Amino acid sequence: MKFVVSEMAYFLRGRARQNLKVLLSYFAFLTALIVSYSLLFQYLQRRLEGEEHSFITGFYWVITAMTTLGYGDITFESDPGRLFSAIVTISGVIFLLIFLPFGMISLFLAPWIENRMRYRPAHGVPPEMEGHVVIFGLDPVTRALTRKLKSQDIPFFFVTENYEEALRLDEQEGTKVVYGSPADPQVLKKLRIESARYLIANMGDTDNTNIILTARSLCKTPIAAIVEEPEHIEFLRLAGADQVIPLKRILGRDLATRATTQGALAHVLDSFGKLLVAELPVHGTPFAGLTLAQASVRERTGLAVVGIWERGDFSIPVPETPLGENTVIVVVGTQEHLEALEKVTGEKSEEDLVLIIGHGRIGCAAAAFLERRPVPFILVDQAPNPHCSEHIAVIGDATSRSILQQAAIEEAKGLIVTTNDDGANIFFTLACRRLNPHVRIVSRANREENVEQLYTAGADFVVSNASVGANILMNILEQKASIFLSEGMNVFRSPVPASMNGKTLRNSGIRDRTGCTVIALEESGKETTILPSPDEKLTAGTNLILIGSAEQEAACRRNLS
Ligand code: ADP
Ligand code: ZN
Repeated sequence: MKFVVSEMAYFLRGRARQNLKVLLSYFAFLTALIVSYSLLFQYLQRRLEGEEHSFITGFYWVITAMTTLGYGDITFESDPGRLFSAIVTISGVIFLLIFLPFGMISLFLAPWIENRMRYRPAHGVPPEMEGHVVIFGLDPVTRALTRKLKSQDIPFFFVTENYEEALRLDEQEGTKVVYGSPADPQVLKKLRIESARYLIANMGDTDNTNIILTARSLCKTPIAAIVEEPEHIEFLRLAGADQVIPLKRILGRDLATRATTQGALAHVLDSFGKLLVAELPVHGTPFAGLTLAQASVRERTGLAVVGIWERGDFSIPVPETPLGENTVIVVVGTQEHLEALEKVTGEKSEEDLVLIIGHGRIGCAAAAFLERRPVPFILVDQAPNPHCSEHIAVIGDATSRSILQQAAIEEAKGLIVTTNDDGANIFFTLACRRLNPHVRIVSRANREENVEQLYTAGADFVVSNASVGANILMNILEQKASIFLSEGMNVFRSPVPASMNGKTLRNSGIRDRTGCTVIALEESGKETTILPSPDEKLTAGTNLILIGSAEQEAACRRNLS
């Protein structure tokens, strides 16, 4: 199918498109010729032979004559009529049997063959190339990564041993691709991996191990690998990967934290030393309906609100930001701060119950995460998971209402929709929203382009595999302090510049000038100050730990250097 699409695309571009126009005009000419002959046939039969025929019969006669089939069931007896028959047959031979195939060959087949013969996939990168990223394995995650790399002008190359894929990437998408076997040392040498910035292995655990071993025998370039099975992390490390990303487990965790309605401590996404980052739905807390300033989260709990999610859009809040029913706040603080928050918001809703549709690796990771909290959950899958012996799932097709009811959709407080089919995920989101209007739905988007549709179908939160994966990889490439907290948010270190020595945090203007929040101060020889007060004095050389979006981070780097 892909092949047909790519060939169609070829015909719709450049010279082939011109040729297509010629062909269409030729067909128009043939149609006109056949219609005229059919009408003329009717007229001559009537005038010369005294026979009445329908247009369809005329058409039939013209086609049999032009294609030299000549059934002989309708004939002309008069000389002028026979002359007409001869003309129709000869023009059929010329226009249908000679010109048409000749045109098809010279206008389409020959250029197509020429195009195929001409395409020589690259077998290596340019000889002076350095600082490039080499990517093994094309999927929505690495595709999303390439968009980020492009926007930062970081050169990258895909490696594939699939000729069709190479042709498609190169010719249609303008993506740099090297054709060859990823685990072949000769291919890796031609990729100049020794001068590359990073190698990204995203080909399944066994192939990744192979690539990493080969690459390690050649150079020390850092390697990041996405691992499928968490038990294989150790093998990939042993093979020589510097960063092994259990993406499915991370996605499971992201889905689970967002689906539970329990208190703040159940929503911790990640930690950074003693600092914990948690996401908390505002729904059901005393903050709902207030602005950030009115909620005074900082005063009541000591936590800093560093981000706001509103139906999939992440932003850095200002005091006037309203906290609506659908808002999710991202807070940073210590364990004690989060406990204080739980006192304000209530610890947990006793009867929390999360339904998980899809017990693949991601669904299983979400279940394991909830189990540790502990939050009760029910799994539904059409088949048992061969990799998991711990969880028992309701087995059945979740498109059936009775299966969903059996899995207690009506009582569930949260729902995680995580099959590997976005169409099915959209359907489950819609169906479950109807069965239970109050359930908190968190859906997984396997492809970025389906995020919007999942929100439209009624999801409260959508976790996109591609953008989560690409963010993690990008943070690794940029050597961020923390690999990943929450989508769209970065945590990074930056030293206090000499110009700010002695100023208080408030007067430094860091927040006003860059939008970033200082979440900790690291002074050598002293204990880290977590969530410093605005009156804290800054000392040149102290490390600031900041949180902000990618643009804010860039602003920070410009302003603080
Ligand atoms: P991943 O490992 O990325 O989570 P999988 O392909 O392993 O992806 O998991 C998807 C899971 O979703 C599979 O276990 C599959 O059986 C399940 N699934 C897909 N369609 C349905 C459906 N209609 N009803 C129930 N489960 C489904
Ligand atoms: Zn499981």
